[in-house]
This record gives sequence, C-alpha cells and structure tokens, in this order.
Amino acid sequence: MLSRKACNPVVSSRELFGLSAGDMEGRKKRLRGMIEFTAILRPSNGDDLVVNLHDDGQVGANFCNDDEIVCGFSEEESEGGDDLAERSEATDSDDEELYEKSIIDSESEEDDDNSSAQIDVEMDDNNGGPIDDLLQNFKEYEARSAYFERFEKKHHVAVELCRLLRQTKASLATYDTMMQWHFWATGKLREGQPVSTHPDYISREKLFKMLRRRYNYDQKKWTMIKEIILPFSRARARIVLNDAQAAMQSLLTDPRITDEDYMFFNDDPFSPPPDHLDYIGDLNTGRSYMETYKALIKNPSKEILLPVVFYADAAVTGQFVALSVTAVQFSLGIFSRIARDKEHMWRTLGYIPDYCKVASRGKGFFKQTGHADAPMAYQNTYLENEGEDLGEVSKVSAQDLHAMLEVILASFIQLQSRGFYWDLHYKGITYENVKFVPFVTFFKADTEEAEKLCGSYNAHTATVSQLCRYCECPTDDSDDHLAQFRLKTKNRIQRLVDRGDEDGLRALSQQNIKNALYEFRMGQHSDQHIHGSCPMEMLHAILLGIFGYVRDMFFEQCGPTSKLAEEMNALATEAGMRLARQSERDMPKTKFAGGITRGKLQAKEHTGILLCILAVLCSTSGEKLLRDRKKKNFAEVGLVEDWIRLVETLLEWEEWLKSPLMQYNHVKYRLQYKHQYLMYLMRVVGKRQAGMGLKLVKFHSILHMQQDILNFGVPMEYDTGSNESGHKKTKRAAKLTQKRQETFDEQVDIRLQEEHLLEMAKEEMNGREVRNYRQGHYHPAQQPPKIEQPCLGGAKYEAYKHQNGNNCIRLTSRANKKEPLGKIESQLVDFLIGLQEKVSDYMGTVPLHTLHKRDGLKFRASPKFMNEIWRDWVMIDWGQDGEQACKLYGFVDLTQIPEDSSIEYGGIAEVGPGLYAIVESSFVIEDEDGESDHLFVPIRKDVLEITNNMVSKMQFYLADVEAFLRPLVVIPDMGGNSNDYFLLKSRQDWRERFIDYLEAPNHEYPMEVID
Ligand SMILES: [Zn+2]
Repeated sequence: MLSRKACNPVVSSRELFGLSAGDMEGRKKRLRGMIEFTAILRPSNGDDLVVNLHDDGQVGANFCNDDEIVCGFSEEESEGGDDLAERSEATDSDDEELYEKSIIDSESEEDDDNSSAQIDVEMDDNNGGPIDDLLQNFKEYEARSAYFERFEKKHHVAVELCRLLRQTKASLATYDTMMQWHFWATGKLREGQPVSTHPDYISREKLFKMLRRRYNYDQKKWTMIKEIILPFSRARARIVLNDAQAAMQSLLTDPRITDEDYMFFNDDPFSPPPDHLDYIGDLNTGRSYMETYKALIKNPSKEILLPVVFYADAAVTGQFVALSVTAVQFSLGIFSRIARDKEHMWRTLGYIPDYCKVASRGKGFFKQTGHADAPMAYQNTYLENEGEDLGEVSKVSAQDLHAMLEVILASFIQLQSRGFYWDLHYKGITYENVKFVPFVTFFKADTEEAEKLCGSYNAHTATVSQLCRYCECPTDDSDDHLAQFRLKTKNRIQRLVDRGDEDGLRALSQQNIKNALYEFRMGQHSDQHIHGSCPMEMLHAILLGIFGYVRDMFFEQCGPTSKLAEEMNALATEAGMRLARQSERDMPKTKFAGGITRGKLQAKEHTGILLCILAVLCSTSGEKLLRDRKKKNFAEVGLVEDWIRLVETLLEWEEWLKSPLMQYNHVKYRLQYKHQYLMYLMRVVGKRQAGMGLKLVKFHSILHMQQDILNFGVPMEYDTGSNESGHKKTKRAAKLTQKRQETFDEQVDIRLQEEHLLEMAKEEMNGREVRNYRQGHYHPAQQPPKIEQPCLGGAKYEAYKHQNGNNCIRLTSRANKKEPLGKIESQLVDFLIGLQEKVSDYMGTVPLHTLHKRDGLKFRASPKFMNEIWRDWVMIDWGQDGEQACKLYGFVDLTQIPEDSSIEYGGIAEVGPGLYAIVESSFVIEDEDGESDHLFVPIRKDVLEITNNMVSKMQFYLADVEAFLRPLVVIPDMGGNSNDYFLLKSRQDWRERFIDYLEAPNHEYPMEVID
C-alpha cells in the first residue's frame, strides 16, 4: 500500500501555524515570532561546499561526493556506520587493482554529470535515438572484468559467512566475531592476535566493495537520495532511488535467469504475436501487448517489444510495525508469469517514504505546545525557513504521492521514451544490438493503491458520485448487473485538470492532480491509459469481497441473531473440521474453530467458508433446518436450491479464474453474459440489505473483469499474491537496519543490494558470472524428482486370539503412554484375524499399518491420529465393477504370499503378493434424473446390516493399493442415513463445470427485470 493510513502530518503543522497551504504571507508572519536558526557549516572548508539540505533536488545526484555522504550518514552508529566508512573510503587509494581503479576514476567525473542529468533533465519522447549507454556500460564492465582479482578461497569463506549470517538473521557485527573464531579455530591466529592482521581476512566493507565492482553495482547509481518538498503537505520527503538503467541491466544479466524463464513466440525474440490465438495465457496473449506491438514495432527484425510490469505494495517489517517499506518495483513481460513469480525477477526503482510517520501525532502535539524545543527538534521535517524555495503547491493531498512517484520514475521514463540497445542472449544465440521498445503493460496494485495511482477517490460512500475507477457508472447504479457506461480516459481527465474544472473532476470522482503515471507509455489497445491498466485483483480482493458478502447475506437471511443462524454456524464449523482431514490435500482452509459467521475474512479463507456453507446446504440436517422455519425466507420453494446454485457457481468461478490458460472464445464471447448472470443471481438470491446493498465497487467490478482478462492475460498475471511473498526478503533486510525512520528506506535498500551481491557471488561460485552474460550462463538440467516406492508406515497394530477365545488387538509401535489408546471396531479385528488365518502358511501375524505413501501422496487409516480418528477415502478401480469411493481402515503387507497361493479373502478370488488396504466400498446415490449434478455428490456405503438406523454389520474388502486412483474428499451426511456421505468433486471438475456453464446457451439463464 502506498501509505495506507491517511494520516496527514501536515495538517497538524498547518493547523499549528494557522496556515493554508498557499498562504505564504501568513507563514512568514507567524515565523517572525519564532527564534531564528542559523545553518551549521561543515568543518572542512567554508563557503560553497556547504551542503544545503534545503537545496531541493541535488543531493541524490551527488551521492558519491564525500561531503554529501557525511551529511547523509553522520548520525549513524556501529552497524550502519560501516557503510559510511566504506563510502568515504571509496576515493582513497586502492592497492588491489590499479588498472581497475584508473578506469573508475576516469569515469567518475562523467558519471557525475550523467547521474544528475538523469534526475533533473526532463526528457521528451523525441530526444535522441535509443539509449546506448546501458549496453556500452556493460561492455566496459566486461573489459574491466579481465583485470578483476581471482575469486579465491578467502572470498568464498567471507561470502559464505555473510550468507549464513543473513539466513540466521544475525546482526552485522557478528561477522567479525565469527571471522576471529574461524581463524583461531583453524589455527591461523595466535591467542590474542586480532583477526584484522591476518592476510586472508577480508572485512565486510572490503568484501562488499569488491563485490560491487565485480558485479557492476556502481555506487553512484544505486541508493541515490533525493529530497523534495511535498506539494500539499509541505513536508520534506527523502526519497531513495535506484537508476533505471542500472536496474534494467542488473535484471537482464542476472545469471539466475534461464532460457525457460523467457516467453517468446516460437522461441524467437523477433517473432511477432500470431494473428489468431485461440487461448489467453500470459500477458503477451493480451490485447495490450498485441495492439502495442502493431503500433510500435516498425522493424520487426531489429526491435523487440519490451512489456514492463510495475508493482508497489508496502511490506510491514515484522515487529517494527511502525516502519513499513513501500518499494516501487518492476519486472519484464519477456519473462513468463511463472518466472515473474520469483523474487529475483524484480528490481526496485525507489521507495515511497512513509512520510506520515515523520510527523506522528505525538510530534504534532509537541509542536502545538509551543515549547521552544519543538521547532529545533523538527527543523528538518518542516520547512519553516523564510525565503526558501518551496516548489509547487497543491491543494490536493493525493498530489504528494504523485510528486514522489515522479521522482522515483524519472530515470525510467527517460529509458522508456527512447528505448535502448541490448545484446540479448537467448538459447545459445546472442542477438546483438537489438532495440528494446519498452511500454508499461500494467501496474499491479491492490484496489486502494490502484485508486491512488489513477487519482480517483478512495472514499466509497454513497455521497461519492462514482465508485468505479474504470468507468463513469454512477454510484447509484453500481449494483446494476447490466450497467454499461463510458470508460474513463487519460485525455478526458487531463483536459479537466488542465482547465482546473473541479466540478467536472468531482463528477468523475477524480482528484485534481498532476498524475505522475501519465508519463508512462502504456498499451495502445485503448485510450484509457493508467485508468484501464491497474487490473483488478480478481483472485484476491474481488473474490474475498464477494465471497464475504455472500456469507453475510446467507446469515442475514437466517436472521443474524436467530437460532437458525446459530445452528447453521455450528453445522458449518463441524463440516469444516471434517473437510480438513482428507487424503486430498489440495483443499482450501476449512477449519474455523471460532465459527464462520463473524469476523473479517482473511485471504485464503474465503473459499473454505463458502465450501462449509455449501456442505451445510447439501446436508440433510441443514436442509431440514432451513425448510422447517416456516416464516423465514428459506421456506420459499426452491430457495435452498438457488443458494446451492449460487454458492456452487461462485466456487467453480474462482477455480476457473485461477486457470493458467483460458479459451479465447470463452472470454471474448461467453464470459460477459455469464458474469452478469452471476451478479443477477447474487442480487436475486442474496438480497443484500445491509449498508449500501450491493452498490459496491467489488460487485460492480465483475463487469470489468472480462476486459482485464482480454487486455492483460489470465488473472494470475496481475494477482499480487506472488509479489507479497517477496516481502520476506525486505523484512529480513529491515531487521539489519537501525530502524530509524529517516534512513530506513535507504538502509533497507543497501541491505537488499548486499543480499543481491552475495547471491551473485554464489552464482559465480557455481560457474555463472555476471560478466559472461553475453556468452550465456550454463544451467545444469534439473534432476527429476526421486520416485518413492509405495510403502506402509504409521502406527502398527497386531490382532491376536486371547486364551479365552476373544479376538484382541494391541498397539505394537511406540506410543505416547499418557494418551489413552481408544477403541477399534471389533469387526475390523475379526477381519484381520480371518486374514491371518488364511495366510498363516506363508507368514506369521499380519500387522495393520495406518499409513500408506505413494506418488508423493499420503493415505491415512488411523483409529487415532492426534487424538482423533482420521480415515481417508480413496477412489479405487475395481476393474469390471468400475470406480468407487472407498473408506480406508488400514494397510497390510502381504508381499510374502506366493503368486499362486489361491487364497480367497475380502472379495478377492486370488490374493497375490503385494500391499493391500482394508476398505469399505460405496456407490453413488442417483436421483431421478440419473447422475447427481452437484459439487457434493451423495454416496452410500456398502454395509451388511443396519439396525435402528445404525450400521450394525460392516462389509470390509481387501484392495490392492495399486488400484488406488486418486485422493478424495468425503464427509458424512449430517442428519442423513448412518451410511450416507458426500463426495466432493475435484477442483478440476469445478473448473470444467464452469466451462460448461460458459458454453451453455444464454437463454438457459434468463434474467428477469429486478425492481
Ligand atoms: Zn465501472
């Protein structure tokens, strides 16, 4: 999130001074009453070397300047201070590589000019041809690398130690202690001799300095600092940036990238997209890519369209909740979606400072007290000095974010406008001097961030004229499943902003801001620009929201505080517990100890909650309870069926949305109507009364999903779930900082770079050096996973005949003595004893095992697992009798039986050697129409006898484990016959059922007019 909490530091400061943003006169008047301050000069030499912190804009560019460094780092201690030392050392004489140094020195002046130019010069689209510097810089680095020192044992040791310390989250200072120990332990140091005196010792600083040089991480291009005065709040923001060219080069040459990570049509980087694709998959199958290719690629044998994907989200850094890091990252669409799921496929352009925190409320109060210490303490936070250039002023708070984005994106905008040359290595071929033509395909963000990026209102109340950031649908029509309104476009909004038309903007729920993202070159498929290029997070936000509404609507209809709701909740919770213990492990979370009625849904919980509700709706008890309450809504004929249909369709819909590939025809011609029908169903069945009914952004958004998929590929492309896992690294890095808000982003960035450098060193140790990119990196073929032999395990029981003639069973494997051993069905013991008698010629007792492992799957048949019964179900191929769902009671090892034993037992005419399961079998209960048409298929267990509605005689079979087909999810029919169950269709089936729904003619799904 881009500073999610809309705390507004500045408000307090402005209130304090009684000023409005533009009221300069008032500001000056107020300031006259304050104590004056004099800027402190640096010790070195007086006059023009003074770094004026208020000198807007130049600080970052001159990062290499020693004086600047002192200013940026002087307050740091211990750990962080190492970097300071490292940085100021940078220009000291270096005894290691004289040649190398001379190159760096001769370049440094030039670089200074370049880097400041990159930040300050506004480039326009026609300014020169494609950028050549990126490639030239790499070639120079290649040339330089010939003189690099050898990567020796001592470097390995240092790199490995650093990596280990990172993994164990040890503090940076641990490094020297460990080194001292290492040298002492290996006998290289005398007692009391400091490690720094040993020739093989490399300090951390020296190591990273060497790695930076070695992997072309020029300090001048990374972790640059730029300070700006925010146009609305007037707060000073200290922005940490990385140069786009350097980041791009680092990404393109990352030795961890394999040929499989790329995604070119026909394995040819120059191949244009095919004219007719019958599927939608990764982003290069979307309209945005296709149309932009047609519009921008003029010379297909030299030019490659380079889709760039952006992402920004705040990572809250563990226990230091107060500090969060919001990195603006990018990756490339020449890489596949799967590849982009990996952390190392992203590079950070900059960080959005958490400037809210700079002036927390406490500080505001402090200032308000008028205490003389206050202005002194916060002199760097607020600009209250007279005569200072305060930059642009805005009346809109949203402008602050865009002002920061403008700074962060500046070097990228330049790169994107002109394009750049590159030598692309792919599948053993180096394509020299290709011209990359970048365009921003989309900006991944959650709903709230997306609204900020588009400059639309964040408020979602009834008083806002339009809720949707995509189109001009009035708030009052947001629940209309047939709504169709003009799309918002960049040009239209830009015109209103240019004219200063506040009313016009308010009518569109748009902020009057200069949108920093308007500088992006975006997809040529539409004129929406950013307003259509922050795709919705269907898999996260939308489903989470919608599934949540559906749950609430269900309990609303039960009567929120009614007995019925209570009973439904209890049943659903119970069903959830049953659903959680299954051989099929690919299941959503369904265990909700606290019930499912209340509470905000967490991501990943929404599917499970609907599944629990569905289980109850299908169960005999659930249906009975719902129909019994005569006065309630559910007495209406067909309503329970409608609810089942609604919940089933939603579950199937989600499964389909998660597909890595979709048929083009489905999306293009069938999806929109079926989405509208789904919305219609929700309105008719759900009848949401609470709040704004279904006049909600997330509900309305369903209407835009089809466009997003057509434009940008399948929903997984722009789901933020994958990037969020990348936060781990950031969190780890954050732990190694001093947790000071002013320098937090900066320290996190440096730590992340160090981590990257260590990764590069690791790659070099594996024979993949960054500098060899143009020759290609060798990646050994992946070893196929080891195939595990099917085996038995778990607890072990042995059946035996007692002296008194009774059949008994005892646990023979180790067990927790404190736990009571529990009971087991006597008929199962009898069955086991019967089996033992049959095979007694070939083996002694036949132990009963509770676990069977095969093909990476685990099947449990345990009368006691973690204090509860856990008996899985499995689909078994009975040959001529077809496939049947079977309940597992245990496993036996009969491998010692000879081939021709002619033993007949448990339904098998000739038991051969092998592993067997003891099971109960079942059959599908068909309704009048034949096949059951629900997600939960009713099945009935084969039993020998039922007395007083209870199973009194069970029917056991022996089943060869080789006949196991697949794991299953089976739950008892609560309130039904004692041998009735429900078999849940597989997720694959859910998906296919949604496809059937898509393919069914629309007239089978008529929608009546809703008043
Ligand atoms: Zn809309």
